[in-house]
Amino acid sequence: MSIEISAAVFKFDVLRYLCYNIKLSNYERTYFGALYMIYLDNAATAKPCAEAVKAAASCAFGNPSSLHGLGIEAERVISEAKKTILKKLGKEGEIYFTSGATESNNLAVFGTSNALKRRGNRIVTTAIEHPSVAEPMKRLEEQGFEVVRLSPCKYEDFEQALIDAVDEDTILLSFMAVNNETGFITDSKRVYNEVKKKFPRCVVHVDGVQGFCKVPLHADIISLSAHKIHGLKGVGALYKTKETRLLPIVYGGGQQGGLRSGTEPVELIAAFSAAVKAYPDLSEKFALLKEKLVEALAKLPQVTINSRHAVDNIVNFSVAGVRSEIMLHFLEEREIYVSSGSACSRGKVSPVTAALGISAKDADCAVRVSFCGENTVQDVEKLVEGIKDGIKRFRR
Ligand code: PMP
Repeated sequence: MSIEISAAVFKFDVLRYLCYNIKLSNYERTYFGALYMIYLDNAATAKPCAEAVKAAASCAFGNPSSLHGLGIEAERVISEAKKTILKKLGKEGEIYFTSGATESNNLAVFGTSNALKRRGNRIVTTAIEHPSVAEPMKRLEEQGFEVVRLSPCKYEDFEQALIDAVDEDTILLSFMAVNNETGFITDSKRVYNEVKKKFPRCVVHVDGVQGFCKVPLHADIISLSAHKIHGLKGVGALYKTKETRLLPIVYGGGQQGGLRSGTEPVELIAAFSAAVKAYPDLSEKFALLKEKLVEALAKLPQVTINSRHAVDNIVNFSVAGVRSEIMLHFLEEREIYVSSGSACSRGKVSPVTAALGISAKDADCAVRVSFCGENTVQDVEKLVEGIKDGIKRFRR
């Protein structure tokens, strides 16, 4: 409570305006930026929390493979981190540390298909996956796998469509629990339970990056990333059940049971674990922030909300007639940081936004706002003020 009050006191407009033209280093931005900037791009990356930074700094530097005391201490840190992540997931099973969710997703997709290719070559996935799943799927197609991609916009009940798409020849079902662009939710519990009931041998992989600590995650394999939950960049995890068989994609010294060779980044892992422990239940806060934002945007006739069936911490909307980058940089001048709401590259429509039912015109003007626990209702008010001013300035 007192932290919130002091943050609000410091978030004076005066301070923010004074800071407009001061060039700050990245370090200053990260640690003092909260005093004046409004950071609403937490789905891209979330500021490392104090607990994570402290854990990384105070972590034993030993190599977990070393036989001396420092190595044993490093090994203990890793095994504690595994327990923490498993507890947060509410699961028993195995945790492997990776360089991030990009690697976890690659390991899940290639590792499963390589392990199961003798049994079949059919894979079911969605048309809204992050490139770290979508690109490996393309490589598998080149190798002769049959990849079926489902688009949410084509189905009333997308979860049922995924369940129905799996057949006895399907070796892998891979989908994201929460989409990074609009926050679209796919209920992994329902899909996992139904698919396993019918086809227990089909491996279910969930990209849990945007869902971790926000929605329940259920699958045989789950990909996680530390920097989306206030850990440090460069570390992720792959959860799997004991029974799920995967082949490695990285070979070397045989660390982590040979599934992921390479010296474990103990400091990053300690920070990941500390961030997981420190992550509070933010569901009420996110619901309030979303409510305030959507309520205010609904009053602007130029704005369309693109997020449907979505988590509360991600709101994607389009401002007709103002292209994403224009609005993004206009807001940036006011120290308000958002993301362009579509992963499209110039002139090309993002297949992800199209599969989510967003028109090319709206995708071109889409803005993604993503909250963290430090954001306040005042932040939302400032954002809405900025959007209104942007509309006045740029819309013809
Ligand atoms: N999956 C999703 C849904 C993501 O949002 C991201 C990060 N943008 C990733 C995977 C990749 O995570 P990392 O940055 O840890 O490689």
